[in-house]
Amino acid sequence: MWQHQHVHTIALLVGFALPVLLGAAWNGWIGALGAFLISGVAKVVVIQHCTFFINSACHTLGRRPYSTRCSARDSFLMALLTFGEGYHNYHHEFQHDYRNGVKSWQWDPTKWIIWLLSKIGLTGGLRRAAREAVQAAQAQVRRSRTAQSESVVISETMAGLGVPQR
Ligand SMILES: [Zn+2]
Repeated sequence: MWQHQHVHTIALLVGFALPVLLGAAWNGWIGALGAFLISGVAKVVVIQHCTFFINSACHTLGRRPYSTRCSARDSFLMALLTFGEGYHNYHHEFQHDYRNGVKSWQWDPTKWIIWLLSKIGLTGGLRRAAREAVQAAQAQVRRSRTAQSESVVISETMAGLGVPQR
């Protein structure tokens, strides 16, 4: 594919050269320098940090609605900062799915862009987890949470009654 063969050239042109040209057109060399530093360098720093904190912050902040087997979590705040990757619990449980925010109301612009690109043939073979599998995973997590809280209630009740516990 053309964009795969020229990915580095495209990245430099779109990520640095285009902002510098627009900055120069706006305000001469000062505009070009400002565009290079803000639209080029600062943008790369922010995007790299947001990308790489997925494997730290997204394993710390948020909820685990699909699986408690790993520490990955779903968080709207993280999704906002990572273009949808913040729904990380779903991603870990259903890794073959091109979506992260599986609910229609979840902020996942990456999913929307991939889907739109599939309509013009630039992506294809998009895979989704079966709705039943997703619902089953959620039900399993709810059942295990209910069992845990019932276990705590029983344990506290027995302790309150003075029943010795193992
Ligand atoms: Zn992860």
